[in-house]
This record gives sequence, structure tokens and C-alpha cells, in this order.
Amino acid sequence: MSLKRQPCKPLATLPAMPFLPSALPWRNRYTRLDAPFAHRQPGQPLPDPRWVATSDTAAAELGWPTDWWQQDGALAAFSGGTPWPGMDPAATVYSGHQFGVWAGQLGDGRALLLGEVDGPNGPRELQLKGSGMTPYSRRADGRAVLRSSIREFLCSEAMHALGIATTRALALVASDLPVRRETVETAAIVTRTAPSFLRFGHVEHFCHHAQHGGRGDFSALQRLVDCVIDHHYPHCRDAAQPVAALLAEIAHRTAVMVAGWQAVGFCHGVMNTDNLSLLGLTIDYGPFGFLDGFDPMHICNHSDDQGRYAYARQPQIAYWNLHALAQALVPLIDGGEGDGRDERVKDVLTEALSHYPDTFARQLGQHMRAKLGLLTEQPDDQALSDELLRLMARHRVDYTLTWRLLGEHRIGVVGAAQPEPVRDLFLDGEGFDAWVLRYDARLRTEHSVDAERQPRMHAVNPKFILRNHLAELAIRQAEAGDYTEVQRLHRVLIRPFDEQPEHAAYAVLPPEWAGSLEISCSS
Ligand code: AMP
Ligand code: MG
Repeated sequence: MSLKRQPCKPLATLPAMPFLPSALPWRNRYTRLDAPFAHRQPGQPLPDPRWVATSDTAAAELGWPTDWWQQDGALAAFSGGTPWPGMDPAATVYSGHQFGVWAGQLGDGRALLLGEVDGPNGPRELQLKGSGMTPYSRRADGRAVLRSSIREFLCSEAMHALGIATTRALALVASDLPVRRETVETAAIVTRTAPSFLRFGHVEHFCHHAQHGGRGDFSALQRLVDCVIDHHYPHCRDAAQPVAALLAEIAHRTAVMVAGWQAVGFCHGVMNTDNLSLLGLTIDYGPFGFLDGFDPMHICNHSDDQGRYAYARQPQIAYWNLHALAQALVPLIDGGEGDGRDERVKDVLTEALSHYPDTFARQLGQHMRAKLGLLTEQPDDQALSDELLRLMARHRVDYTLTWRLLGEHRIGVVGAAQPEPVRDLFLDGEGFDAWVLRYDARLRTEHSVDAERQPRMHAVNPKFILRNHLAELAIRQAEAGDYTEVQRLHRVLIRPFDEQPEHAAYAVLPPEWAGSLEISCSS
């Protein structure tokens, strides 16, 4: 029999590969570590689940098509029911400092890792949030309410679109299952994705356990940190002190993340060490908020009486959290032999953290220069942006609108006779004029061209952010069974820098009633 060679078909004409979830090579390198790191268990399915929203761009990060959710069994798998073949749900254990105080064991009280898939940009873990009780639920119900799940879904995707490192939200599923909070609400599940959901609190947990009752056996801590380095920071292996190099990298990523928050006016709300990611991702969207009128001491979390997590304190609090992480890494640092070991270990860790303030300041400086439309770097730039912030703070001028409308400014247009939209925001018009004269002088030093500067500024100063009142309107409709506003708002927020004139209503000042919205830890 002669074998006749078939001409090769060019790849482009091959039919697209069908998306077969059952054929996905699921794994989970972290939960594979098993006890004491993770507890394998099934979810508790939501009764009568329905899709509220899905994110095409989050699916693309997994390499999935936009219609992935229409696959057989998808709704069951992503509402806590029967997993897809290969998924291996598990809850992980962590501890942490909450509001500056050691809180002991916490853990995934309502989250389950489903597994890990290879995406175009590397492996991604999938996690359900709200899928029922785990050994770490601590007498709570293991559920998440629709209200907070909508906020998490929308903000994760909005932050990603703003260019800030974050866990992503792939899907949101709702149910009529009643859940008791201050009132009776209904349950929902957000599916989140990230290269890893590991937190500072995971490291703190295994250090604490070894020190208290674990007879000084730090082998679990070592395995955890080895896993973090091998999976996420492999280049740290080459350093003389790999664990210190890891800490320095985490500090760097945290500084970059928080500078991004400050630049867009994002307040996290609960920066406990269990809510800080070892990968420098924004994680655990609870009582977060974006600044409306600029107030550096704005507190978005109604439960934060002391303002520990106020907007202006976030950079310092992140640094505090990094010190808590460093403390938990002490047993893994090689301090050499003999006297003075403790001092040497301290020096190694202090050095690893020492770059955080400069990295943060440099990152924020870059953001601020870009927000002002500056191309060059000059010594007085920080004074210029600080003065604008002071003017904003004096009369609580809207943070987002100020920056966005500043992009419309034309050099030489100053004063009440030639009003610009940005000037109209300031009660103290003359104070603003004085600042604009300085700003114009600065722009002239680099021969700034209005028509070129505007698109540059619009590309970094968002027009659309997730203001509380926008989330609230979407939540009210969703609670009445209509998810279209969640979906519409999602579409608007993933293009935050585009003009979107048809959605101008999403970019105006918040209404009067928004001031009375209270966002607490209840979720
Ligand atoms: P959070 O304030 O959302 O960061 O949660 C702090 C800790 O409480 C974490 O360990 C959560 O898993 C846990 N937790 C919060 N809400 C619930 C809940 N409804 N059921 C079980 N655990 C919860
Ligand atoms: Mg949390």
C-alpha cells in the first residue's frame, strides 16, 4: 500500500479547537502541598443559581473563549456544585494582624481554590468566594451576599482596566438562598482568578504555629516560602539570601501597587495582613471606595473608627504590614554562626525593606507627573502636584473630575474671564488661577503642546471609576432580579480612560444621597 502524502493544511484554515473544559489540564501546585496548608473539600452548592455577569477579559487571561460559561456543567461548577473534571476544591489556612493586632487563625472561611490552569501569561488559579463553610469559617456561614459580590466583581475588573495589579473576577453567580447579615440578603459567588491567592497572613500563620506549640519546627514555613519562591519568584533563588530577596521583591510590588491606588484615589478599607497579597495584587474587595471630594483622611470603611486605613495612611500601613511579614520570615534568614546572629538577621531584613519608601515615592512621583501631563522631571514637580492636592482638599473638590478636566486645560487660559471646566470645580477660583499660572510656567519649560498633552493625560486620568453610588444603583436593581445595570456598569468601567460620551452620566459628581452611603465590613 502506498502512503500518499497529504498536503499540509495551513494552520489558519483549521477549524477552531473546541473548548473542552473536561480536557483542561487542571492542577494546583499549592493545594497539592496538602495538609497543613490546605483542606480539600467540596463546596456547598447555591440552590437555583443564575449568571449575573462574566468577564471576557478575565477569561482571555485563562485562554478561554467568551462563551466558556455556556459549557455543560459550568453553572454548577461555578456556583459551588459539581466541579469540572480535574478541579480539586480546597480551602487554605492563614492568620494575620487585623487593625494592628494579632488575630490568630483566619483562613479561607468562605473561599475554595478550584485548581490552576495555564493561561497565555502563565498559570492562573481559580477560586470561588462564597461557596459555603470550611474548617476556617469560625462560626460564620461561609457565604457572601450579592451586594458585596457585585462590588468585588466590578471593582476587580475596574482596577485591572486602570492598570493596577489585582486579582481578577471571572464570573458572578446569584441565588435566592437567604443569608443573614444586618438584614436578610441573598447569597452569591464570585469566581476570582490570580497567579496566586497567597497572602502575608499565610506566612505569618506558619511562623506563628512553629513558635507557639510547634516546638520551633519551621519546616512548614520553609516549605511554604520555598513554594512561593519556586512558583512566583524563581530568580530569588540566585540571591545570597533568597528569602530576603523575596521580601525585597514583595516590598517592591507592594509599593508599586499602593502608588497605583493613591494615584487613582482608591481606598482599600481593610489593609489587614491577611488582605495583602504576596504577589502585590489588590485582593479582598470589601468596604473599599474611590475618593469623591478629595479628603486625604477619607475613611471608606464605616467600621474603621480610628481611621487606621484612611486614604493618606495606606502607604505607611503597607509598610507596617511588610514589617509584620519580615518578622514572620526571621526564622528562615541565615544569620551565620556565633554571637550577634539576631542582629545580623535583623540587618538583612531591614535592608530588604529599606527600599520601600523610595520606591513608593518614585512611583507616585511618576504617576503625578503623568497626571499633570509632564514629560520631563524637575525638582519642583512634587510641590506643584502637592499644591493642587491642597487646593482640592480645602473645598473637597472631586478628585477624579479635577484630574480628568485638567486634561482640557490650554496653556495661557487663566482666570474668570476665560473659564475652563476644571476651574469651575473650585470654589476658590483665584487660588486655582494662581496654581494654573505656576502650572503653565512649568508646561512652557518643556514646550508642552495642548493637543499632544490632552490625550496623554486622558490616558492616565480616568473618566470612569466605581463610585459608591454607581455600585449602589446596580446593586439595587440586581437585588430586584435585574442584572443589566451590573453588566452595563462593568462594560463602562473596563474602558475607564475612553470618552464614552454615551455614558456621560456615569462620570458626573455623585448625587447628594451618596454621602449617606455607609460601607462596612459586613459582606
Ligand atoms: P475579610 O474581612 O472578608 O477579609 O474576612 C476575614 C476572615 O473572615 C477571613 O478568614 C474570611 O474567610 C472570614 N470570613 C468573612 N466572612 C465570612 C463568612 N461569611 N463565612 C465564613 N468566613 C468568613
Ligand atoms: Mg480577607
